[in-house]
Amino acid sequence: MQVWDNSVNNTVNNTASIKNLQGFDGKNPPDGKLIDSCVHCGFCLSTCPSYRVIGKEMDSPRGRIYLMDAINQGEIALNTATVQHFDSCLGCLACVSTCPSGVEYDKLISATRHQVERNYNRSLWDNFIRQLIFSLFPNPDILRILLVPLFLYQRLGFSKFFRATGLLKNISPRLAAMESILPEITLQSFQSNLPDVIPAQSEKRYRVGVILGCVQRLFFSSVNEATVRVLTANGCEVVIPKSQGCCAALPEHQGQTEQAKALARQMIDSFAETGVDYIIINAAGCGHTLKEYGHILADDLEYREKAKEFAAKVRDAQEFLATVGLTAKLSPLADKPLNLVYQDACHLLHGQKISVQPRQLLRQIPEVSLKEPLDAAICCGSAGVYNMLQPEVAEELGKQKVQNLLNTGADLIASPNPGCSLQIGKHLQEKKIAIMHPMELLDYAIRGEKFELF
Ligand code: SF4
Ligand code: SF4
Repeated sequence: MQVWDNSVNNTVNNTASIKNLQGFDGKNPPDGKLIDSCVHCGFCLSTCPSYRVIGKEMDSPRGRIYLMDAINQGEIALNTATVQHFDSCLGCLACVSTCPSGVEYDKLISATRHQVERNYNRSLWDNFIRQLIFSLFPNPDILRILLVPLFLYQRLGFSKFFRATGLLKNISPRLAAMESILPEITLQSFQSNLPDVIPAQSEKRYRVGVILGCVQRLFFSSVNEATVRVLTANGCEVVIPKSQGCCAALPEHQGQTEQAKALARQMIDSFAETGVDYIIINAAGCGHTLKEYGHILADDLEYREKAKEFAAKVRDAQEFLATVGLTAKLSPLADKPLNLVYQDACHLLHGQKISVQPRQLLRQIPEVSLKEPLDAAICCGSAGVYNMLQPEVAEELGKQKVQNLLNTGADLIASPNPGCSLQIGKHLQEKKIAIMHPMELLDYAIRGEKFELF
C-alpha cells in the first residue's frame, strides 16, 4: 500500500544511497509486533489533530508508524526530515481510542521519542529551548524563585507590551508562545502552603495522598486548595509529603529518559512511608504518567515493584470521587441555572479512559446543565509543552477548541488540566467566559458560595 508523501519519498531517495544510516539504537526501539498490528485502515486519521492541521500522511498515526518501521528496517534514517514528523505528534492518544485494531501507538511513540533524544542531534536553538523547558517546568523550586521577576514583569507592563506589539514573535515564535500562556502571577502564588496532614471534616473514610504538580502548585494553587477541601469534606484525611517534586510527565512525554526515571523514583520515595490508601492527582497529564510508573521503571530492579504498587494507588481526583461517592451536600453555583461545558483533557479521555466520571460529578451540582461541544475528543493544542515547541499547529487547534466550546452557549468552561486551561484561556482572550477546574466547582458547591458570572 502506497502511503508515503513526497517529503518522505525524497527522504528515501536521499538516504537510500547512504550506508550506515543513523537509525534507532538497540535499547527499546519501537516494537515490530506493535508496528505490524497496524492494518493501515486509516480510521485514525480523522481524529488525529496534527493530521487535521498539517494535512500530510506522515503527520498522521499511520504515517508515523510507517516511518518507525522503515527506520527499524534500516530503509530510511533518523534525521531532520523524519524527526519533524515525530515532533509534530501531540501525544494526545486520540488515535489509540479510535484504532479498531487496538494498535498501541502510545507505546510506539514513547519508544520513538526516547530514541530521538538519544540518537538525533537537534540544532543548538532547538536544544536551548528544550533545555530551558526541561530545567524550568519540572522544577517547582526554580519556578518559585522566578515568581518574583515574573510578577514584576507582568506588573510593569512588559507582558502587555510584548503581547500587543508581537515583537517577541518576530524574534522567536517559541519564546512568544511561552510568554503568551504565562498565567497571571498573583499574591496567592506566593502564599500557598498546605499543611502536611489535613484531617477529614466528617467521619474518616480514606487516608489519601495528594500530588501538588509543578505548574499547578504555583500558578493554580487555588485548584489544589479546592481539591483538598473537596476531599476532606467527603471523608478523606489528606497527606501531602513536602518532599514530592515533579511527576515526570514532561520529560517522559519528550523522551528525556533519565530525568523521567529520577523524578519517578523521587515521587515514589516521597509517598513511601505515608500509609495512604490512594494517591490523588487533579491534573490529567500528570495522572497518566503517574499510572505509567511501572512501565517507566520496568528495568530498575530496585524500584520496579515499588513503581507498580505506587501506580496501582493513583487515581484522578474525579475518578476517585465518582467511585467512592460524594457525601457532602452540594448547593447551586449561582443565582440562576448554569450551562456548563466540560472540556475533555486528552490524557484523561484517551490516556486514562475517564470521561463519564467528571460529567457524573458535575451533574450532581444543583441547577447545572452540561453541554457537549463538537469535536470533544480532539486536542486543544496544549499537549504538555507542545504549544511552546510547535506553536503554529497548537495555535490552530487552540482556536478550533475555543470556538467549539463557545458554540455550546455555555456560561462556564470546566477543564481538568492546567495546560488545557492555559491554552484555552489564551484563545478566549476578551471573551467573557470563565474557565475553572471541576474541583473548584465542587468546592464552591460544597461551601455554598455563589460566584459572579461575567
Ligand atoms: S493505527 Fe489503527 S486506525 Fe490507524 S491506520 Fe493503523 S490500524 Fe488503522
Ligand atoms: S497521539 Fe494524537 S497527534 Fe499523535 S498520532 Fe495519535 S492522534 Fe495524532
